[in-house]
Order: sequence, then C-alpha cells, then structure tokens
Amino acid sequence: MSSISPVLENEFKPLSSPEATPISVAYGDGIGPEIMKATLEILEAAGAQLDIEKIDIGAQVYEQGHSSGIASEAWDSLRRTKVFLKSPITTPQGGEYKSLNVTVRKTLGLFANVRPCVSYHPVVENLHPTMDVVIVRENEEDTYGGIEHQQTDEVAQCLKLITRPGSERICRYAFEYAVANNRKKVTCMTKDNIMKLTDGLFHKVFEEVAAEYPQIESEHWIIDIAAAKLATAPEEFDVIVTPNLYGDILSDIAIQLTGSVGMGGSANIGDGIAMFEAIHGSAPPIAGQNIANPSGLLNAAVMMLVHIGQPAIAEKIQNAWLKTIEDGIHTEDIVSEKQTKQTVGTQEFAAAVIERLGQKPEGLKAVEYNSDSHGELKVTIKPTVPAVKTMVGVDVFVHWHEVKPDDLGAALESISNDDLSIKMITNRGVKVWPNGFPETFCTDHWRCRFKSSDDQPISHQQIIDLLSRISAAGIDFIKTEHLCLFDGKPGYSLGQGE
Ligand code: NAD
Repeated sequence: MSSISPVLENEFKPLSSPEATPISVAYGDGIGPEIMKATLEILEAAGAQLDIEKIDIGAQVYEQGHSSGIASEAWDSLRRTKVFLKSPITTPQGGEYKSLNVTVRKTLGLFANVRPCVSYHPVVENLHPTMDVVIVRENEEDTYGGIEHQQTDEVAQCLKLITRPGSERICRYAFEYAVANNRKKVTCMTKDNIMKLTDGLFHKVFEEVAAEYPQIESEHWIIDIAAAKLATAPEEFDVIVTPNLYGDILSDIAIQLTGSVGMGGSANIGDGIAMFEAIHGSAPPIAGQNIANPSGLLNAAVMMLVHIGQPAIAEKIQNAWLKTIEDGIHTEDIVSEKQTKQTVGTQEFAAAVIERLGQKPEGLKAVEYNSDSHGELKVTIKPTVPAVKTMVGVDVFVHWHEVKPDDLGAALESISNDDLSIKMITNRGVKVWPNGFPETFCTDHWRCRFKSSDDQPISHQQIIDLLSRISAAGIDFIKTEHLCLFDGKPGYSLGQGE
C-alpha cells in the first residue's frame, strides 16, 4: 500500500491555485486524526493556499513492519515538499521500535525545536499571567543519538555527544530568532559545573555567539536552578536556548504552566526544511471522543503559515482562535468556572474558530504578522579550525568482578612500562586507586587511566601493545578513550578525587 494517498473526500481540499505551497500532512495516531481534521478545516476556511500530500506514519506503518514508523514513499514526499504538518503519533513500547519523531528530526537535519509557551491569562487560568517564553531546544544531539551499550553485567552507557557546529547552529538560531521577533534576552541553560567538556562546550559557544549580538541581553543559568525558576517565575525568561534533553523536559513544564499541554505548537527547523507539530503526544486515553483540544496543532499550523510566507492567513487564524478562547468557548482541558461559557468538542471548537475568522480578540493581545515576520531564518556557522592534537594516554575501561581496586591496580602496574603507566583507577567516576576509600561503592566497571610521563606524545601502536598486554593478563577490556591535548589543553576530565 502506498504511504501517500490522495486527500479523502471529507478531508481538506486544497485551493487549487498556482501560489499553493506543497506540504506533507500526517494525521498520526490517537487524537491525531481528530485534531488534524479540525485544524485543516480552519486552514481551508481561512483561505490557506496549500497543496497537500497526505502521508502515513506511525502505528499502522510500524505494524506493516517498518521499525522506524515511516516508509520510503513518505520520505520522498517530505524531501519534495520540505514542509511537514504532523499530528502526534504513538511510539510502540519495546526495544525494536525507534521513536519516529527522533528519526524524522535527525534524518532531515531539523536542528532547532522552537516552542513558544505563552500565557493566555485570564482566559486560560494559570499562575503566570505575563509568561511569554520561547524555548529553542537543540534537536539532534546530546543523548538523543541513542548510542547505548551494555558494557558489563552491572553497567549500561548512553553517549552524550555535544558538537561545536551543533551548538553554534542552535545558539545562532536562538539569537537570530530573538532579533527577528523583537525579543530582548536569550538565556542559555546547561549543567557545565559538572559536565565541563560537553555542556561546557555548549556554554562556551553560546558566549562566543552572544558577543556578536550586543543588542540582545544574554545570560547563562545552571539548569537545575533554572528549571526551578522557570517553574515558579517564568516571566523572568524570554528566549531560552538549551541542549536537547534539558529542552525536552523544560518545554513540557513550560507549556503545562500556560494552562494545558494541549495549547502549544512547535516548529522543528532545518536548512530549507521544517516540520510543525503540537507539543503533546497522541493521548490514547481520550482518542476518538471528540474532546481533544486542537489548539496545539493549530498553533503549529500558524507557525507553518508564517514560515511558508502566508502571514496574513496566519494572523487571521490566530486572532480568530484568540477570540474563540476569549469568548469562553473551551475544550475540556481548559475549562474553568470563571472563564468558560461553553464546553465544546474538538470539531465544535474548530467551527467556533471558523465563525470568528476576521475578528480580533479584545482583552487578549491580537497578533500581527506581515511580510517582515520571519519566514525562514538562515544561520551560517563558522568552519572549525583544527587544533594541534597530541595523544598522551588512554583510559581503558575493564569489566572486573572483584571489588578490590588494589588487586586490579597491582595487576595493571605489572603490565605498565616506561611509555604508558597506570596512574589512576576510578569506579563510576570516583578515584578508588591509588589511595581509595573503603566506603566508596564499586560496580564491575572500572576506568583505568594510563599516561605517558610528562605528557610525551604516544602512538596508536603503543596503545595497541598495551591492550595486548592487558588481554594477555586475562583482563576483560571493554572500551578505550584516548587522552589528548588540543592545542596543549587537556581534552579529558580528571577523576573525582584525583
Ligand atoms: P500525551 O501528551 O499524549 O498525553 C498526556 C495527557 O495530556 C493525555 O492523557 C491528556 O490528558 C492530555 N492531553 C494531551 N494532549 C491533549 C490535547 N490536545 N487535548 C487535551 N488533553 C490533552 O503524552 P503521553 O501519554 O506520555 O504519550 C502518549 C503517546 O504519544 C506515546 O506513545 C508517546 O510516545 C507519544 N508522543 C508523541 C509525540 C509526537 O508525536 N510528537 C510527542 C509526545 C509523546
């Protein structure tokens, strides 16, 4: 069965016009089809010029045996239209299935995930009347490479990769977004007090990029206290830029603070290609009941219309939507005693928005989009200048059942030589040899640091020889990490307690 099907009779009929922009649309799973139908009806009524290719992704595609949840015809459509309006999908449980969202974002190079989280107080009750935060989340790197290994009986590892180009691209995007949208401040959030090389790189690149935008205030917060601050005083933030995992968590917290997870839309931006979706998932418990709030997907569609150069339609739709919620026409998730005048279902909500096309809100601030509203923001990154790299040692990770670091230290001392000698053993990052503490809890996963004397350069062959000796001593080495100086600066962290 083809994964591209013609638009069905009762679904969105594109206005056939030469100006129509081709887009790919996926109806998704759970509440996906209901909220997509509602959204496309509003887009059609507002006069959006869209030429829709419907693609199938998600549950039914997983069931057909595509472990990624997407078939090749759908990829063809996405690469042809380069604009994707997507409903949420259900990721099946189980190790053999990959998250389709992560696959699409990474395969298409959608590096920036932009999530505006705006308070519609008092219409939608919440504790933060003036909250207006945009979270710009790095979308491809960090632990989301999903590069994981079980290394020993007791230890599994996930690689956290932070790159200079990836960090520069997202930080530049955040500042460009701030400039294009008249924002005043960009806040970077990392945990670089602990992860000095990975989060430290992100923070460093942020400072470099910030220096090129003196008109925008910039600041850095450690993520834990920043998250606490965001949850209690979100009005203190404007644009937030952060690595992938923190951004994932923060943006769900932030959108919930606005009153409902059903309200937020997001844009996933790449180079010449973009995907627009609601922040929330497929909400299986409320699927098929006509009670889901279509606002998240509708707000994503508004971002899409601005992106593809149809700002007047975007403005018309968002103002009609604001007027609808201001008039107290609410779906169940945002019902309140004071503000709700009529509780409606998904399709009735869409009809109410359509009725108000051309109207503006009176209490809530009306939006204005025009040809200056940013479509695509271009960011160019500087080429990396290679450093002088000197290899001065190696961390050899071993699987060792005995909980006696002194025995392992002695065994490794006996195979050290003048080129490479054992300097330190850590367990879960803490130094346990030499001179460890008996109180330190140890697993079966040991990092054994071999260094040359006085940072003399060493060769790959010397490492291979060392590994041969370790293997001959009956020690199960499971991985190595080279210790290098980059322009004379150590490219590795010290052990805790070293
Ligand atoms: P979820 O966001 O789907 O739902 C959590 C709860 O929030 C729902 O039970 C519902 O009470 C409420 N909710 C969500 N959207 C709503 C809406 N539009 N209107 C009213 N209430 C709404 O999160 P989940 O339950 O953790 O995930 C369900 C499935 O969705 C999982 O398979 C997950 O992998 C998937 N998911 C997909 C996406 C995506 O496609 N972008 C994103 C997140 C989760």
